[in-house]
Formats: sequence, structure tokens, C-alpha cells
Amino acid sequence: MSSGGDSDGTGPAGGSASDADEFGFAEPATDQSFENALAKARDGVRLTVDDATELLATGTEREGIDPVRKEAVLEAADRRRAETVGDEVTFVANLNNNVTTACNTGCLFCNFKDSAHAFEADSDVDHAGFTKPPAESRAVVEDALDMGVYEVCSVSGLHPAFALNDEHHEILAAHDDPDSEANYKPPEAYATDPGTYREQMAAMSVGGVHLHSMTPEEAYHAKRGTDWEYESVYRELAAAGLDSAPGTAAEILVDEVRDVICPGKIRTGDWVAAMEGAAAAGLDVTSTMMYGHVETVAHRAQHLKVIRDLQDRTGAITEFVPLSFIHQNTPLYRRGVVDSGPSRAEDELVVAVARLFLDNVDHVQASWVKSGDAHGLKLLNCGADDFMGTILSEEITSRAGGEYGEYRSFDDYVEMITAIGRTPVERSTDYRTRRRIDPDDGPHGPRLGPRADGTPMLPERSTGGDAAGTSPTEADD
Ligand code: SF4
Repeated sequence: MSSGGDSDGTGPAGGSASDADEFGFAEPATDQSFENALAKARDGVRLTVDDATELLATGTEREGIDPVRKEAVLEAADRRRAETVGDEVTFVANLNNNVTTACNTGCLFCNFKDSAHAFEADSDVDHAGFTKPPAESRAVVEDALDMGVYEVCSVSGLHPAFALNDEHHEILAAHDDPDSEANYKPPEAYATDPGTYREQMAAMSVGGVHLHSMTPEEAYHAKRGTDWEYESVYRELAAAGLDSAPGTAAEILVDEVRDVICPGKIRTGDWVAAMEGAAAAGLDVTSTMMYGHVETVAHRAQHLKVIRDLQDRTGAITEFVPLSFIHQNTPLYRRGVVDSGPSRAEDELVVAVARLFLDNVDHVQASWVKSGDAHGLKLLNCGADDFMGTILSEEITSRAGGEYGEYRSFDDYVEMITAIGRTPVERSTDYRTRRRIDPDDGPHGPRLGPRADGTPMLPERSTGGDAAGTSPTEADD
């Protein structure tokens, strides 16, 4: 929406006048100048929302992205990256194992979910979705452990039969009309019982793997219809094996944008409360922003402020992950609400401004899944220092029309990172354990996972699709 999908950096910036008018959003305008904002960024002064807005727009006084100004922002961010975290580029050996695609939340940017009623036992609706009982989730993780993964990431649709535990099932079932009041139907109503969240966490927490799961939206689903605190929900999940929580489902943390793209989701305040609950329960969290749909650059800047404030209060955020909107196959695109995702220039500016604005978050991620290898590497020179994970399966992006979702071997990583003059480093999910990799000493791993012994994860590179026969990532973002 926000740009014409140009790749030369000269297209319109997100939040052009026509975009802003179409959704009733105010046109981005500030009392700051681009030059002053850039000077503050170069000097390491904490940036304001207005500063970030000017940098993201390369000046709001004119339409489109100015390529010269853009390069100045990227240079400042790359220098800040070098000062903050040095020349290392990290990645993690991970697996995505999502439990279910059943969901009826209806987010307009999501093509991952399948309408939950199609999963009901008496439904005759054909669908390509799945639900994995806990035993199946465990088997997937067991197999991946043998391949050397460090982390399993699991984010799922909001299956109406999901509950935190048995007590939650009883509370939900006691509603006069559980379906409409609490988005709940009992497991018996479905062809496959997803088990409880607690059971799924216990099933996937096997053999010392790091379990990264339960977004704020899922945590809300795990307490819907009750007066439970997010902290107590996350404590119970941590006791079952959860190690950290993904800050997905954030999209844009400004409610007027959420009203357009995901009116069925929790509001910004609830998202923040859930993250604070996870932190209070002792969990690390990540942070994300899905951009390039209907929002303006001012919304992006406001979102970054929400993240920075959260980190000031909790210190629990390990990384910031920009998620470039993939428009193909989404309801937003099919309905003509958007006509493209963000341009590459916008991708670069988001990474750079995140590096400059989030002065309390050490790590910023570049995505090869959404951007492809070449542009993913470019983003590492725009302020990013993390290059995702092996991701043995990446179904969400490919379902939405993305071209790059498959998997990445350690040898691939080492070759690409070395080619841009940086140092490849295998990391743990929390970044606290690192292994610098000598490019001349292959095979390159993985070595940090509980069963990793340096053997390559897969014998040869996948030609695409579901490389490990397992399933996807971040349904809920
Ligand atoms: S983004 Fe998540 S909550 Fe929204 S429809 Fe997709 S799976 Fe459901």
C-alpha cells in the first residue's frame, strides 16, 4: 500500500498523502527537520517519535524517499551497529513447529489461518490446514533435536478448543454461550484435539531444547473468559517448559491501524500488558513490527516508541524483528485495500531507524525469508546484526506468496556472511551463548543445540517448500 513496490529507493515513502487520506490517518508531519533528526542520530542522542518519523520518511516535507538522505540514515545506523555489537552476524539453529492453523480471528493480512469451523468433526469443508496433538508436536521436535536444533519456535492459530489447562476448559464451558462469549468450543467438536497450551508446551519442551512460544495474542487466548493475570499464565507455561516468548502479533502497535488490519485482535495496551507479564514471569521476549500495509511512517515511529518504553521498563527484549508485509494472497490485497508491500528502500529505512531509535535493544534482525538472500545481506549493512535462523520450515511466508521461505544451512550462512566481510556466529535464542565460526574449518555446525555435534542439519539444500516435513512459523503475526 504504502509504496509502489519499487526497488530503487526512489518510490514514495510509507504514509503518502493518498494513503493517509484513504484511511483517515493524519498525514505525517512534524515540527522536526530531517537534518536535525539525522544530526541527533549521528550524535547518539535519544530520538523522539518526530525524529524517527523524519528519518523514516527522509523528510516529511516532500513526497517519496530521497535516495541521498536515505543513504545518510543507513550509514548512521551501520556505524551505530558497529559501535554497539561489532562485526558479528548471528543466527540460530531453529525449527518452526506450529500446532494448528485453525483460527477465526480474521486478520486481513493473514492467509495462514483457515476458518476454524472447517476443522469441526462434522464439517465437510475441504481445507489444507492441520492440527497436531501434543504427541505429534513432540515427535517433530525429537526429530529436529537429532538434526542439531537449538530452538523450537511455535506460534499457532487461535483454535477455539485451545485452553490453558483443564481448569480453563471448565471455566470456558461454563459460559452461557461459550462460542460467542469466549470463542470456545470443546475439543470433542473438532476432528483433532489440540490438547491444552500447557500440554503442548510440555510436549515440545524435550531434550533440553529452547522453547520459544506463546505470543501476547496466544497468551490472551490462554486466559480468555477469566480474570487471570498474564504473569500467572506465563508462569504456568514456563513451569511446563516455555523458555521465552515471541513478541509477534504486534503488527503496528497503534490502535487506529489495528482497527483496519486486525480488528479481532487484542489492542496495543493488552499486547504490552502480556509482554510485561511474560517478563515478570522471568521470560525473555522478542519484539516485532509488521509494516508496509496501511500505516504511515508516523505509525511506525509510534510503534518503535512503544517497544522502547517497554524495554525501559522490563529489559526483557532480546531483539527487534522487522517484518516486511507480504501482500500477495492476503485479504488486504485481494480486497484492493493495498496494492503492494513496502519497497526495499522502506525495508532498509525501517532496519536503520530501528537501530538508531531502539538504543536499549542490542539486536536487530535482517530477514532472508521475506527479502531474499541479496537484500537480506544488504540489510545487514543498514543496522542489522542478526540473520534469523535455519527455519526448517517456513510456511507462513510461502502461503502468503513470499518466494524465499525454505531453510538455510550453516554452510550457506557462513558463506554469505563471510562474503560481506562480517563474522558468522552461531547463537542461542537469548544471544547469551555464542560460537564464532571459522570459515576455513567446516563443516560448520550446528554445535550449540542439545544434540548438535557439528554435523550439517540436512545433507543438501532443499529445493523449497517444507524441507523437514514439519510445519511453519509465526502464524500469529
Ligand atoms: S494472524 Fe494469527 S490471529 Fe490473525 S487470523 Fe492469522 S493466525 Fe489468526
